[in-house]
Amino acid sequence: MASPHERTPLAELVEELLATDGPLTVVVAGDPVLRRGTERFEGQLDPTLLARFIDALRLTMHAAPGVGLAAPQVGVPLRIAVIEDPAPVPEEVRLARGRVPQPFRVLVNPSYEPVGTARAAFFEGCLSVPGWQAVVARHAAVRLTGEDERGRAVDEVFTGWPARIVQHETDHLDGTLYLDRAELRSLSANQAMAGRWTQPTPEEAAASLGFELP
Ligand code: ZN
Repeated sequence: MASPHERTPLAELVEELLATDGPLTVVVAGDPVLRRGTERFEGQLDPTLLARFIDALRLTMHAAPGVGLAAPQVGVPLRIAVIEDPAPVPEEVRLARGRVPQPFRVLVNPSYEPVGTARAAFFEGCLSVPGWQAVVARHAAVRLTGEDERGRAVDEVFTGWPARIVQHETDHLDGTLYLDRAELRSLSANQAMAGRWTQPTPEEAAASLGFELP
């Protein structure tokens, strides 16, 4: 924990990012910060700076728009992410994908492990890989452990789409992009997604593009 007079290099970096108001710039694939992994959060930002940084992550996630954003995606190698999904989807999509609303949450030092062996495969995208989506088979349920923004312990099971979001965001903190886990033959540009693969599940895409589903 740094005293107010000795700012850590990460605090300097965050102060610099927050010097201009508005959404932060989202870093895109090819930038090493997305691949290096992150430092555990251990007070490198004082509580005021942490709160400002979280507000900026939330603003940036909303502006994108996205349902999750990890600190490395704005160039900050700290083990922090935010998630929030109002899930404005039709009923058939909600049922097929388990896409239920996920209230705003801050994940500090998160880790996950699978609960059970079931997997769920759906198209997903990433703000750091703009223009593309691909099918990723992920654990259908995960146990997430870590802390919240006030340092309180979190130990919670996530299912449905929220389970996908916490896996995607936690993976970012380990330098992993969704493409590392994707069925690469499913890779689809947004135009193809909009024209062809709007079904609630990816079976048709799997048959047409030639990839396996779990
Ligand atoms: Zn992402």
